[in-house]
Amino acid sequence: MDRMLQLIKILNKYSYEYYVQDNPTVSDAEYDVLYDELKKLEEELGMILPDSPTHRIGGDILSSFSQYRHKEKLYSLDKAKNIKEVEDFFNRLIKENGKMPEITIEHKFDGLTLSIAYDKGIIKSAATRGDGVTGEDVTAQVKTIRSVPSSIPFKGYVEVQGEGIWKISSFDEYNRISDVQMKNPRNAAAGAIRNLDPKETAKRKLDFFAYNIGYHEGIVFPSQKTMRDFLLENGFLVGNEFIIVNDIEGAESVLKRIEEERYEQDFLIDGAVLKVNDVALRNHLGYTEKFPKWALAYKFKPVEVSTILKDVIWQVSRTSKLNPLAILEPVELMGVTIKRATLNNYDDILKKGIKIGSKVIVRRSNDVIPEIMGVYEHTADSRDILPPDICPACGAKIRKDGVFFYCENTDGCAPKIISVIDHFAEKGAMDIEGLSEKTAEQLYNVLGIDSPDKLYGISYDDLLKIEGFKEKKAGNLIDSINKSKKTTLSRFLYAIGIPNIGKKGARQLAEKFKTLEKIQQASREEIIQIEEFGEIMADNIIDFFRKKENISLIKELLKHGICFEEESINSGALLGKIVVLTGSLPSLTRGQAQQLIVSNGGIISESISKKVNLVIAGEAAGSKLEKAKALEIDIIDEKDFLKLINN
Ligand code: NAD
Repeated sequence: MDRMLQLIKILNKYSYEYYVQDNPTVSDAEYDVLYDELKKLEEELGMILPDSPTHRIGGDILSSFSQYRHKEKLYSLDKAKNIKEVEDFFNRLIKENGKMPEITIEHKFDGLTLSIAYDKGIIKSAATRGDGVTGEDVTAQVKTIRSVPSSIPFKGYVEVQGEGIWKISSFDEYNRISDVQMKNPRNAAAGAIRNLDPKETAKRKLDFFAYNIGYHEGIVFPSQKTMRDFLLENGFLVGNEFIIVNDIEGAESVLKRIEEERYEQDFLIDGAVLKVNDVALRNHLGYTEKFPKWALAYKFKPVEVSTILKDVIWQVSRTSKLNPLAILEPVELMGVTIKRATLNNYDDILKKGIKIGSKVIVRRSNDVIPEIMGVYEHTADSRDILPPDICPACGAKIRKDGVFFYCENTDGCAPKIISVIDHFAEKGAMDIEGLSEKTAEQLYNVLGIDSPDKLYGISYDDLLKIEGFKEKKAGNLIDSINKSKKTTLSRFLYAIGIPNIGKKGARQLAEKFKTLEKIQQASREEIIQIEEFGEIMADNIIDFFRKKENISLIKELLKHGICFEEESINSGALLGKIVVLTGSLPSLTRGQAQQLIVSNGGIISESISKKVNLVIAGEAAGSKLEKAKALEIDIIDEKDFLKLINN
C-alpha cells in the first residue's frame, strides 16, 4: 500500500511535468516502468485509488486556456511491449469476433494529440486531448500549422483527430539558429501549441498528421481505410505507413520493419498503432475507461534514458581535435550498459546548459554511440564544464578553430599518433589483423612507431621486446603487416586519413579517378562532380595531398611495396547502381544486405526517387515499394538479389 501511494505520487508529479509543463524530468521509459509496477500492484491488491494515473487519461489542463468540451471522448491507447502481447490482443479479438478481423497498422506519432472540428467546410475549433473529456482550446495556435487545412471540400460536421508534431529537420534547424536549445521535438511541439501566443507557435513550423475521425454528421465511415481515404481527399497530411494484416505473422513482420526503419522518418515515432479496420466491430468491442478495446499501441524499445553526468574528459582524436566525452553513471538502455556518451563541442555544451552532476538525457539511435541531448534537471552538485586550457594528453598549447579545440603538438601528442596508427590498421582500412588500439600504443611506447609507414620496418625481433609478444603472436603480426601491402586504392585512401573522407567517400574517389596519381592531381571541379561531394570535401582532399608530410608519408608507404589490386567493386554486379532496401528479407538481416550491396559496388539510398536504379523488397514492404512501382523502378526480392550478385 505504501509503495502504491508512493508510485501514484511520483507518477502524478511526472505527468504534471510532462502534460502540463511540457518539460519532463525523466524519460518515457522510466515513467513506463513505474506505471507498469503500479498496474501490477493494483491487480495484486484488487484496488485502484481515485487519483491513480492507470485510470486517467493524460494530465490536467492549463487554466490560462479556455476549456473545450469534446463532443466525443478522446482516449489513450493500451500498450504492448512485445509480439506476445500483440498476439494476446489478437486472441481477444478472435474470441469476441469468432474469427480474426482485419487489422490496420500505422505509425504511432510522438507529439501532441489534437482534435480539429470542421463545419460546413470551414475550420471551427481545435483542442488538445486534455483528460479526454475536456481539453484546451488551441484554435488560434493550430490555425498557424501549415498542414492543417483552413477549409475542406466536405461540407458536413467532422472532428479530425491527429498529432501535432515537429519534424526533426525543422526542429534541428530551429536549434541550430536559436540560443535556447529544445531538448526533444515531442515536448517542444506540445509546448509550442500550448503557448498563449500563436505567433510563437507559427515560428516553430509544426505539422499535423491526421489519423482518425471523431464525432461526425452527414457521412458514414465503415472502416479505418475509408477514414484515411476521406482525410486524403480533404487535403490532410496522413502518415506514409498504412498496412492491413490478417494474422500475427503478418503483423510481426510489419512491426519489425517499421521499428527497423524508425530513424528513416523525419518525425518521431515511438511505436505503431494497430486498429480493427471494421467500424461495426469496433462499436461492438467498445472501450474501457481509458482505452478503446479495438486498438493497441505497439511500443518500440526506448532510446532515451536519464542518468547523472559524472565528468567530462577531452580526448585527442587522430586529427588533433579535442573531443569532449561524457562519463556517466552507468545506465541500461536497449540492453546495453552505457557508461560514456558523446558531447558535440563546447559551444553545444553551453547552449544545452549541460553541467557535471546534472541529470541528463542520453539517447541512442541505431548503432551510433550514445549522445547527450540535454538536461532533465540540475542538482545541488551541478557545476559548469570548463573548456580545456592545455592539451590534457601532452600539455601542449591548444588552438580554437570554429567550435572545436585542437592540440598544437601534431607530431608529438601520443593519443593522436596512436589513433592514426589504429585507424590505419582498421578492418575497413589496411586490415592489419592483430593490430588493436592497445598494440598501437605498445608499438609507439616501446618501438617509437609514430607514423603508419614505420609499421612496415618493424622486425620480428623488435616485437619480441614488447610485453605479451611471444614467437607466435610476433610472427602473426609480421605476417598481417606484410599481407596488408596488397590492398585496394579505396582502402588505402581511407587508411591515410583524409579529413572528412570515410569509407564511402574513399570508394567513390577510387571509382572516379582509378589511380592514386590522378587523385593527387585532381582539380576542385573534378572532385565536386562526384555525388554528395561538396566544396569543403574537395578542399580537404586538395589540401591533404599538397601537405609535405602527407606527400612523404605516401612516398614511404609506396617504397615499402604497397600496391593496389583491382577494386573488387569493379566487378560488382551493382556497380554504380543506387539501391533501396525495404521490408524484411527472409534470411538476410538489414546489415548483411547493406554490406552485400556495398561490396558489390552499389550505393545505398534511404529514399525512393527517380535516381534509384533498383529496389530490393522484402515482406511487408510499405510506402517505398508503392512509390517504386509508381516510378517503374526495377524491384527484386532476396532470392533474385542473391542470384544477381552470385552471378
Ligand atoms: P500515448 O501517447 O503513449 O498513446 C496514446 C496516444 O497516441 C493517443 O492519444 C494518440 O494521440 C497517439 N497516437 C499517435 N499516433 C496515433 C495513430 N496513428 N493512431 C491513433 N493514435 C495515435 O499515451 P498517453 O496516455 O497519451 O501517454 C502515456 C505515455 O506518455 C506514457 O507511456 C509515457 O511514455 C509518456 N509519459 C511520459 C512522462 C514523463 O515524465 N516522461 C509522463 C507522463 C507520460
